Amino acid sequence: MKQGIVYLVGAGPGDYKLISMKAAELISLAEVIVYDRLADDRLLGLARPDVELIYVGKASSRHTMKQEEINQVLVEKALAGKMVVRLKGGDPFVFGRGGEEALYLLHNGIPFEVVPGITSAIAVPAYAGIPVTHRGIATSFAVVTGHEDPQKAESNIQWNKLATGVDTLLFLMGVENLPYITTKLMENGLDGKTPAAVVRWGTKPEQEVLVTTVATAAADVARENLQPPAVFIVGRVVNLRRQLAWFDNKPLFGKTVMVTRAREQASQLTARLEAMGARCLEAPSIRIAPPESYVPLDTAIEAIGSYQWLIFTSVNGVEAFFCRLHAAGKDTRSLGLKVAAIGAPTAERLSAFGVIADLVPLEFRAEGVIEALTGRIGAGTKILLPRAAVARDILPESLRRMGCQVDVVEAYRTLPGEFDGPELGERLRAGEIDLITFTSSSTVTNLLSLLGEAGNELIARIKVACIGPITAATCLENGIKPEIIAEEYTIHGLVAAIVAAEGRNSLV
Ligand code: SAH
Repeated sequence: MKQGIVYLVGAGPGDYKLISMKAAELISLAEVIVYDRLADDRLLGLARPDVELIYVGKASSRHTMKQEEINQVLVEKALAGKMVVRLKGGDPFVFGRGGEEALYLLHNGIPFEVVPGITSAIAVPAYAGIPVTHRGIATSFAVVTGHEDPQKAESNIQWNKLATGVDTLLFLMGVENLPYITTKLMENGLDGKTPAAVVRWGTKPEQEVLVTTVATAAADVARENLQPPAVFIVGRVVNLRRQLAWFDNKPLFGKTVMVTRAREQASQLTARLEAMGARCLEAPSIRIAPPESYVPLDTAIEAIGSYQWLIFTSVNGVEAFFCRLHAAGKDTRSLGLKVAAIGAPTAERLSAFGVIADLVPLEFRAEGVIEALTGRIGAGTKILLPRAAVARDILPESLRRMGCQVDVVEAYRTLPGEFDGPELGERLRAGEIDLITFTSSSTVTNLLSLLGEAGNELIARIKVACIGPITAATCLENGIKPEIIAEEYTIHGLVAAIVAAEGRNSLV
């Protein structure tokens, strides 16, 4: 039997992109992933479809699975020959009990490796604009547990040395213990006026920062009802935040945007909005599925030599076409024809398959495509159009009017997504969402059908951003007034329009 192994992997502090390449690779290969609540869902999205996911919880006071049980699961799975990733928030050896797990594995003869992660102790202050060291201000820092039981007779923490011996102190797991921590620091000689900060959910769009002093921290946190997880930062470096705050200054920081796209396509829009600081909630109001039958597409591919033009209207069309082309044992060399790709992303995807489009009309609307093709096609030109069945028919109809012979074949279907309508309705009702984005007419109608009767009324309360005039028209037809309409009908254009209208530095 194949030898099992356990990787103790640091998942980074919160922002899922702050993971190492090595960790990402191991996640994508793992047969078993054992994870806790600090690990972002999107990291788990990198895993194989057949991965076994084991949640072991760990909110500070109520452990879902005891440490001994976690140890046993790791050993059990490794003994069964599995490649196991034990995913831990931050760094596995910084208050992650990674050392204990490693010792347990060692004693049980299980091979293990450690993949360090970016610890919250340093990254969370960084995202709050607080460098843990700074020339002339702090030449040392210490990471300290804030979890020590205040009732314990003898503290393991050398408060007398820490309080005045280290310039920057970083307490993890300390929110509930702030009265004790701050009292100990002041009793041991630290000036109560020393600047301090509490950063909750650092590096994530939910990040909250409270700037205070050692003397006032406990009361401030109680008043604001700030909950874990948070890092408590003590030291003069906290003052640098006034100049260096960058993450929470991003244009869309603090805004929650609902992205209604097919799951397979949501990521690009979400990634760009997140880069602007927004929190995104992906409501996959549509989902891409294979066509009922591939026969029409396969038949067209079989006869590909008889076409003069191939027109792709979407990334999905490109993917489905090449998937079937390869399945037929053919590749790009069999495409001795002209290719048009509507929109830059479609052209980009095409180039990944080795095809440089002959024509890339940037205008998404069928009218723009016809204009671009005029003069290049004529009566009798045979055109293949692999696309979704429900798409608008203007393009093939106009081409036919120009005398072309157009074969529209279904390459994929867009179906209503699986997002739970009532839950979504709840969130809209609770005012949790600041903005809804629509990137096609079908996202509008699908969201409405998902929400049911109250849909229009719920959406009417929230700002709506559309990718272009056609989507906006569909909104209006459904009684929704879009406030933001992109001037350039692309994801990039949509994000730019949102930032211009909603961004904190916007002039509007
Ligand atoms: N191994 C982890 C720490 C585990 S202890 C690391 O290296 O980061 C858990 C504590 O880490 C929490 O109580 C909190 O103090 C801190 N923490 C982890 N992620 C955090 C985040 N995104 N924001 C604020 N604090 C965080």
